[in-house]
Amino acid sequence: MQLPMMRSFTQFLQSARIATVRLQVPQCACRFSTSRTLLTSTTDTSSSIPNFDRYNALDNPRILITGGLGQLGPGLAKLLRKKYGEDNVILSDIIKAPKHILESGPYVFADILDPKNLQQIIVNERIDWLIHFGALLSAVGEMDVPLAVKVNIEGVHNVMELAKRYKLRIFIPSTIGAFGPDSPRNPTPDLTIQRPRTIYGVSKVHTELFGEYYHYKHGVDFRSLRFPGVISAETTPGGGTTDYAVEIFEDALITGKHVCYLRPDAMLPMMYIDDCLRGVVEMLEAPQEQLKLRTYNIAAMSFSPEIITDAIRKHMPHFETEYKPDSRQDIADSWPQAFDDSRARNDWGWTHHYDLDGMVKLMLELKRKFMKLDLPQTKAART
Ligand code: NAD
Repeated sequence: MQLPMMRSFTQFLQSARIATVRLQVPQCACRFSTSRTLLTSTTDTSSSIPNFDRYNALDNPRILITGGLGQLGPGLAKLLRKKYGEDNVILSDIIKAPKHILESGPYVFADILDPKNLQQIIVNERIDWLIHFGALLSAVGEMDVPLAVKVNIEGVHNVMELAKRYKLRIFIPSTIGAFGPDSPRNPTPDLTIQRPRTIYGVSKVHTELFGEYYHYKHGVDFRSLRFPGVISAETTPGGGTTDYAVEIFEDALITGKHVCYLRPDAMLPMMYIDDCLRGVVEMLEAPQEQLKLRTYNIAAMSFSPEIITDAIRKHMPHFETEYKPDSRQDIADSWPQAFDDSRARNDWGWTHHYDLDGMVKLMLELKRKFMKLDLPQTKAART
C-alpha cells in the first residue's frame, strides 16, 4: 500500500486544526460511511468536535498497529484481519517488511517518534483503533536508556495526543515489568505498589498513568493489559527478560541443550501467544461499562527454567539446561512470580486456554514444523 505524498496538505495542517469525522448510520449491519474534514481554528476546540466515532467501535473498525513487525504484531494483524477484513488492519513499523508480511495485507512505514507521519496515516487511512506496539523491551532498554525514553515515553505522548485529537480507541500493552521489588510478588494484584527498577518498567508505569489521565481528563478510550512473558513459535522475541522461554524450544530441537541466562528457580508469569492476542481483541471489544480499570493484569501460567525443562523432558528425555545467570536475573528478581488476574476474569470474562503442558506440546510441534519447512521468521529483514 502506498501512502500519497501530501506536502501541501501537511503544511496546511500546521495552521489549521483538522478532525476527520466519519458519518454513518449507527446500528446498521452494512455501514454507510464516508469521510470529511472539519476545519476549526488553531485554538484547542477538541471538546467541541462531535464524537461520531463512538458508533463504529465494533462495526469494522479501521485499525493501525504500530511497531507491528515484532513478536506480537503479525499474529495480532492476522487475528484482526480475520474478524474485520484484510484491508481494515494496517501493520506498520520502521523496518523493511519481509515478503510474506507484504503479501498478507497493508503495511506502511510509521515512526512513532514522528507525529506528523502518524497523523497523516490516521487521517488518510481513517483509523478508528490504534494498537501501539512500538517499544524497546526490558533487556534492550537497559542497553540504551536515552533511546528507550524516546521510544517508550515520547512515542506514547505522540500516540496519546493523536488518540485524543481523532477520538481513537487506543490500546497500549503494559507488562509484569511495571512492578518492582517492593510490589507483592506472589500473587501481584492490579492495584499495588509499582516501583520498577528498569527503564522499561518505568516507561510502562508512565504509560498506564498517562493513559488513565487522558481517559479521565479528555475522555480518551485508553485500554491496557499487563502481559506476562509471551511465548510464540512463528515470531521471535525482541529482547526481553523472558525470551529464554522461546529460545529453549529451538535449542531443545537443534542441540538438545539450552544455556539459560536465568537461575533454575527464577519463577515468572508466562503466556502462550494465542491467549495473549485473543486477550487483546477481547479487551478492545469489551463494552465500556464492563471496564472498571483501564489497565488489567492477565495471566495463564507461572514457571521457572527448571520447571519448563522438566516439561520439555516429558517429550525429549535427554534434554538438558545449563545455568549461567547474567544481569537479566536481577531484572527477573524484581518482577512478579505470579499475577492475580481475577479482576479481568470477573469484569470482562478473561480466561486462558493454554497451561504449561499444553503450551509445551504445541510449541514443540510448531517449532518442528517451522524448522522443517524453514518458514520465514518475521525479524529477518531488520535494518
Ligand atoms: P518487539 O520488541 O518484538 O517489537 C517492537 C517493535 O517496535 C519492533 O518491530 C521495532 O522495530 C518497533 N519499533 C522500535 N522503534 C520504533 C519506532 N521509533 N517507531 C515504530 N516502531 C518502532 O515487541 P513485542 O514483543 O512485539 O511487544 C509489543 C508490545 O507488547 C510492546 O509494547 C511490549 O512492551 C509489550 N509486551 C510484550 C511482551 C512480550 O513478551 N513480547 C511482554 C509484555 C509486554
